Amino acid sequence: MEDSISLTIDGTEVNVERGTTILKAAEAAGIEIPVLCYFAHTTANGLCRLCVVETEGVRGMQAACVAEASEGSVVHTDSPGVQSARKTILEMLASTVDLSEAPELHKLMQRYDAQPKRFEGGKRRQPEMIDDNPMYIRDYAKCVMCWRCVQVCAADAQYTYAIDFSGRGFNSSIGTFFDKPIPQTTCVFCGQCVGVCPTGALKGKREFLFEQGVAPEDIFQVTRRNGKNQRSLKGPHLDRGG
Ligand code: SF4
Repeated sequence: MEDSISLTIDGTEVNVERGTTILKAAEAAGIEIPVLCYFAHTTANGLCRLCVVETEGVRGMQAACVAEASEGSVVHTDSPGVQSARKTILEMLASTVDLSEAPELHKLMQRYDAQPKRFEGGKRRQPEMIDDNPMYIRDYAKCVMCWRCVQVCAADAQYTYAIDFSGRGFNSSIGTFFDKPIPQTTCVFCGQCVGVCPTGALKGKREFLFEQGVAPEDIFQVTRRNGKNQRSLKGPHLDRGG
């Protein structure tokens, strides 16, 4: 292979093109590294750190989705340190975010023996669900801040820039400019943000209403162009309970 490098991942030697990320190099070696914010069709940012790996001689852990594989390196993708880091990341996520509609994360929590109650009593993200347009709902209590939706709305796909990060620290969230309702933004309702959301934080309105037990004919009244006011179907789904 032209301009290729060789490295060892979990004891398997692999040759990849220079510039390949550790995540892709592992894939080439038949090794799957768990991911959350990473999505094959958006730019990787190393935000969630779930894909961290240990490389011998390198200080700290590297996010495999953005770290480049290097010649002669020896990488461990499932060492005790890596497992412990992933377990803690998952536990912290579960302590702050509603992961009830994130089955892939549930599988990872089982795999890493993550205890969702480890940080019980900590502050949770519980913003009100936003139901401001006929096409999709935004339930940011389920948002893990993976940034996929922002990226497909921006330069990775749609070039619409209707949503972005807002706020800082624990109070950071995905939002619109000046918190305007979606119909007052540049959103063109392409649906790509809904398609890439891994947690159900963004959901098609029809699917959402169907899950709430709303009759199909009423759903069409809400989601069709000349249907009646969508607000008329708001109801108990807004109650979060304890
Ligand atoms: S709304 Fe969904 S896609 Fe957007 S950042 Fe949150 S979890 Fe990710």
